[in-house]
Amino acid sequence: MSNFKIAVPHTVNPGSKVKLKSIPTGPSENLSFDKAAARSQIASNAVEMAELAKRLYAEDKRSILLVLQGMDTAGKDGTIRWVMRGMNPTSCQVHSFKVPSAEERDHDFLWRHHNAAPRRGNIGIFNRSHYEEVLVVRVHNLKPEKRWQKHYGLINDFENLLTECDTKVVKCFLHISKERQQQRLQARLDDPTKHWKFSMGDLAERKLWGKYQEAYEDALEKCSTPFAPWHIIPSDKKWYRNLVISELLKKTLQDMDPQYPEPEGDYEGVVVE
Ligand code: AMP
Ligand code: MG
Repeated sequence: MSNFKIAVPHTVNPGSKVKLKSIPTGPSENLSFDKAAARSQIASNAVEMAELAKRLYAEDKRSILLVLQGMDTAGKDGTIRWVMRGMNPTSCQVHSFKVPSAEERDHDFLWRHHNAAPRRGNIGIFNRSHYEEVLVVRVHNLKPEKRWQKHYGLINDFENLLTECDTKVVKCFLHISKERQQQRLQARLDDPTKHWKFSMGDLAERKLWGKYQEAYEDALEKCSTPFAPWHIIPSDKKWYRNLVISELLKKTLQDMDPQYPEPEGDYEGVVVE
């Protein structure tokens, strides 16, 4: 079991610089476990996490927000499918953020995200998130620079607010190589059952790879705070990515150590007729 301890993400220390090119996108060569072992560890983590999540729900005081960001094909959906397996859907909600609607654009940029934040006792997952406001918005000049430059600080304030109000914010950047993205996009084109995942726009976005990597580096640097640091997840191998995130989430739940609440009254001797 202990050999899985090396499945830890690269956590960005607040104030430190991030050079994505120098951070691995896959497991190290001398990994002491393989895909099969990783999968069985993910399965046993899922059992433990389900029990801890049940206690979190019963405790009804705190929540977790898992933020997933990454380039197209990095595996945000796959992570949710594998890592959250076994969770009770009642206490776990996924929000996939798309291009903002007219209603959403009519409000401040955090409105829709705050509205989707998890209830007490729940685990919320943001599949894409408020970070798109310093990623796609920046790369495509969707708002003036003087506007999106302010978003970094506002995002930190928002996450601070959530943290102070008992939501643990866990942020994962799924880090893939440009070569791996090429393979995964091509696989989507080659397999008709994967065409639904593909759009021609994905090729246009891929051409902006360098600009996105720069935008990610800035977001990772400026929004790694002591209360909500970014974790960089090597994501070229799906099973390794899933294991790292599963271990991270399990540890988060273990550290929170949720407790069943005290009974409201003294139930000693109470019998149901
Ligand atoms: P997908 O994740 O493939 O379903 O695509 C969702 C799309 O919504 C992506 O192209 C995102 O860039 C886009 N998107 C998400 N959030 C925003 C945002 N705040 N502003 C503009 N586009 C966004
Ligand atoms: Mg897509």
